[in-house]
Amino acid sequence: MQNIRYFDHAATTAIDNRVLNEMMPYLTENFGNASSMYGIGKNNKEAIQVARTRVANALKCNLNEIYFTSGGTESDNLIIKGIAIANRRRGNHIITTKIEHPAVLNTCDFLEKYMGFRVTYLNVDSQGRVDLKELERAINRQTILISIMFANNEIGTIQEIQAIGRMANRYGVYFHTDAVQAIGNIDIDVKKLGISALSMSAHKFYGPKGIGAAYISDNVNFIRMQDGGHQERDKRSGTENVAGIIGIGKAIEIAQNELEDYNKKLKSLREYYFASVEKTIPFIRINGDLENRLPGNANICFKGVDGGKMLQELDKVGICASSGSACSAGLLNPSHVLLAIGVPASIARSSLRITFGRENTVEDVDYLVGNLVKIVKKLR
Ligand SMILES: *Cc1c(COP(=O)(O)O)cnc(C)c1O
Repeated sequence: MQNIRYFDHAATTAIDNRVLNEMMPYLTENFGNASSMYGIGKNNKEAIQVARTRVANALKCNLNEIYFTSGGTESDNLIIKGIAIANRRRGNHIITTKIEHPAVLNTCDFLEKYMGFRVTYLNVDSQGRVDLKELERAINRQTILISIMFANNEIGTIQEIQAIGRMANRYGVYFHTDAVQAIGNIDIDVKKLGISALSMSAHKFYGPKGIGAAYISDNVNFIRMQDGGHQERDKRSGTENVAGIIGIGKAIEIAQNELEDYNKKLKSLREYYFASVEKTIPFIRINGDLENRLPGNANICFKGVDGGKMLQELDKVGICASSGSACSAGLLNPSHVLLAIGVPASIARSSLRITFGRENTVEDVDYLVGNLVKIVKKLR
């Protein structure tokens, strides 16, 4: 079998062995329902609280402000719809950006189409950054929620979260941030940053798929989106995914402990990649903010090359990468994020997103760039 080089960590990551080992007993002998009265159930309830504490410690918030969900998509839905519907008497206006993940964009679209809300989609500049003055102008007496992602999944740009949080608080507006890409890369103190609600997903930081968490501040008025047996303090019913919850707890603890080294490693791989490509391949365009950027993200347009064909060629030599977000990569449409930062559609179709992770090496980057040189030449 061919040796696989994986450069798509923004799409998902492989589960860490230390995480899997901690989960195993909860997939086997510790199978009890956490809501039951006998030992093997009650022990699971305690284990869930340990995991909740680990997630709360990472965000520096209260234990009771963490709700476990099935992932980033559900957290985004729960928070945005739960806040919108609970506060509709106060106002019907939501502000977000044009570069959000589909889990946020389509949730806002749903609220607009079916629930009578008005949504402002903010532009971003050529680096993918929100203009704070434009944000301030968009706030009106009807505004109840601002939802702006912490860091973008396609181009890696990190927003001025603290300034946005302060502004939201000044106007008495809730501030949600989709931090799915930020967790494990950026140390987040939700109180200091003025964040009212935050979404995360374990499989983006070496945890299992199908488990996520929503941080929702005690000060936020929100309503559940799912009715049932009152689990998660009646905010997210459904029998707890105990193994998944143990997994996200362990994964976030490891991510916090290793954050600095992880950052350094990814950043140096990314800079080496950028430098190697700039040296060997002409007519490229690097997308996203070079300063305020996720350490592992490298998004480059190779002008004149079809992004889809490039991915197929890379796959033939065992390289996993992406042309944009995994969710829209199946379609041939140019990325909505690249269009929003002003990349013409024809050039946006030539983009390649490389996202580095724990197991990547300098030798991997050499292999990648060596193949890119040949593939770009062939497809141009
Ligand atoms: C992956 C991702 C999501 C969706 O998370 P899932 O757990 O896969 O549902 C949401 N937002 C961003 C920014 C993401 O990168």
